[in-house]
Amino acid sequence: SAGIDIKKTLDQLGIKETNQGTSTGNTWFSSGDPITSISPVDGEKIASVTTTTKEDYEKVIASAQMAFKTWRVMTAPQRGEVVRQFGEELRRLKEPLGQLVSYEMGKSYQEGLGEVQEMIDICDFAVGLSRQLHGLTMHSERPGHRMYEQYHSLGIVGIISAFNFPVAVWAWNTALAWVCGDVCVWKPSVKTPLCGVACQHIIAKILKDNDLPEGISCLINGDYTVGEMMTTDSRVPLISATGSTRMGRIVASKVGERLGKSLLELGGNNAIIVTPDADLKMTVIGAVFGAVGTAGQRCTSTRRLIIHESMYDKVKDAIVDAYKQLNIGDPLDTNNHVGPLIDTDAVKMYESALKKVVEEGGKLIVEGGVLSGEGYESGCYVKPAIAEAENEFEIVQHETFAPILYLMKYSGEVENAIELQNGVAQGLSSAIMTNNLRESERFLSVTGSDCGIANVNIGTSGAEIGGAFGGEKDTGGGRESGSDAWKVYMRRQTNTINYTTELPLAQGIKFDL
Ligand code: NAD
Repeated sequence: SAGIDIKKTLDQLGIKETNQGTSTGNTWFSSGDPITSISPVDGEKIASVTTTTKEDYEKVIASAQMAFKTWRVMTAPQRGEVVRQFGEELRRLKEPLGQLVSYEMGKSYQEGLGEVQEMIDICDFAVGLSRQLHGLTMHSERPGHRMYEQYHSLGIVGIISAFNFPVAVWAWNTALAWVCGDVCVWKPSVKTPLCGVACQHIIAKILKDNDLPEGISCLINGDYTVGEMMTTDSRVPLISATGSTRMGRIVASKVGERLGKSLLELGGNNAIIVTPDADLKMTVIGAVFGAVGTAGQRCTSTRRLIIHESMYDKVKDAIVDAYKQLNIGDPLDTNNHVGPLIDTDAVKMYESALKKVVEEGGKLIVEGGVLSGEGYESGCYVKPAIAEAENEFEIVQHETFAPILYLMKYSGEVENAIELQNGVAQGLSSAIMTNNLRESERFLSVTGSDCGIANVNIGTSGAEIGGAFGGEKDTGGGRESGSDAWKVYMRRQTNTINYTTELPLAQGIKFDL
């Protein structure tokens, strides 16, 4: 692949030709079948990772349960110090880890580095948070009583992640969970197992340097059957799962059956509204990056552009023009804008979506297609496509994880655009391009966007770690990362203390003996 010595990168990250896929920290084992990781960049086999069996899983849970006893009684700032060191180690390994993300998943090297930067940022956030796990005090209705609430560590947090953010999603969860005093068991996507192995090596070194026990950071590998070992296990009080809505429904019901907690980060169907007062240049950059960045494989990728009829032709022409300038190819070559899809199954889904939109009456204005020949040997490279479509088309209602952008018109007031924007099952990210204060405030009001993320004069894709991240409806309702998202990783306890010699009851109830 262009410009990188992948063997050196793998060496720096402790990845061998065959790797054990189960780990409790510095102990690695596994007796299941190997998963071979193939790069979508060049179709080459990178390395293999063995899967976790039920027996291996039991060892992991026993180790995590033991570790929790030590970890939860350390002070939160002490745990924050471990996370600080982890962030430092990530700074040191940013380049090789960014390269591995790019090579195993297929996103551009810049985006691979960006993903590692997100890990570093969340570590910094978590370090500060470790001194701010605040509860509240309340005034008691009973005299001589004090009432407050506090947050305690929860236990084992099970993390199930998707292929498209193979390292950052783990860090979003784990950095917060650790300062909260939880221990973590991570099952990465079966499509990006080496990113999991690399991250586990990085944290294992830090835990060892600090003489901490095995079990604080654990790794398991395999497909959904391995994920199900956690979702059905009541020893794992919280499951944080990132992936498709289909997966989320199954996970929620399994975890719900045992009354566990789940944090769900599922699919999106994100739109940008372009009003008559939009800045055209900003709209084009925001829409094109949102639609083709990560080859349309972000949960926040822009899928729909809802354009006012008075601007429609102008916006359409400018975007079609911009698409002509896109270079598609090796994501590690910085001249390219668009890399491959994750695998050939994703290519099939892309092709079938393009077929479907035409069958439903849509019109392709930038034709897609699968690329072949030199540089495209993996069979995973596709051309970003644009179709004019209606919001109610079945295919438009559906999240296709590929660079396909649907254009649609609205007329009249911004309310009509908001109705279209909200008229899908998913509710992750949304944006409006406008310099009109009334339109932007309407979009952000209670009758505006129904999504977890609503942006003004920014596209739908990409988010900072300081805010809570997640979405409503079929996106699952979970929130991760910044703001007070940490609370889900802890259990809340309300405490009332009586410092009198009487025992008055609440609500003035009399109970005389
Ligand atoms: P996926 O649903 O196929 O898999 C995600 C993870 O869930 C994998 O680790 C998989 O092994 C596991 N899994 C699947 N079925 C399971 C089950 N029944 N029990 C336990 N685990 C199970 O998703 P993907 O193709 O890897 O990722 C793409 C999807 O993820 C898109 O829909 C995208 O929008 C979504 N996503 C959402 C966010 C977000 O924060 N909202 C972030 C990234 C990706």
